[in-house]
Amino acid sequence: MDCVFCKIAAGDIPCHRLYEDDRALAFLDIMPVSRGHLLVIPREHVEFAYDADPELMGHVMRVATRIARAAQSALQCQGMNFILNCGAIAGQVVPHAHMHLVPRYPDDGIRWPWPQGTLAGDDAARLRAAILENLA
Ligand code: AMP
Ligand code: ZN
Repeated sequence: MDCVFCKIAAGDIPCHRLYEDDRALAFLDIMPVSRGHLLVIPREHVEFAYDADPELMGHVMRVATRIARAAQSALQCQGMNFILNCGAIAGQVVPHAHMHLVPRYPDDGIRWPWPQGTLAGDDAARLRAAILENLA
């Protein structure tokens, strides 16, 4: 499969590896948004995190929290964004599920570009009903 993260997982493309086990690995992002920006991925190829085995993504999260604590101590960042982009429209460029860990520092210049709206009561009811109908 022509997937850059599968190739990294297989060792066919080098990376700055931080951690690996039989189900997940973590490595530094090659184009970091901030100092220490890293990625945690499942070894198994799945495009969207929400289509992956929840147990597998749970393991990715376990690895992420462990590495986040190590990175926080090492880098003395003041916080961190955990980001999962699912789909091109959501900013996903590499079609292999991955969790970004972006250490945050004072005055790092990173801003959420999301304009926020308001949740109208009747729309909230419609949204709840539609989602709950599909929740098995
Ligand atoms: P996304 O936009 O969520 O798909 O993010 C993909 C991330 O993968 C970007 O932050 C890239 O900088 C990163 N990336 C792409 N290729 C590599 C690579 N070979 N090694 C490390 N990080 C990579
Ligand atoms: Zn892949």
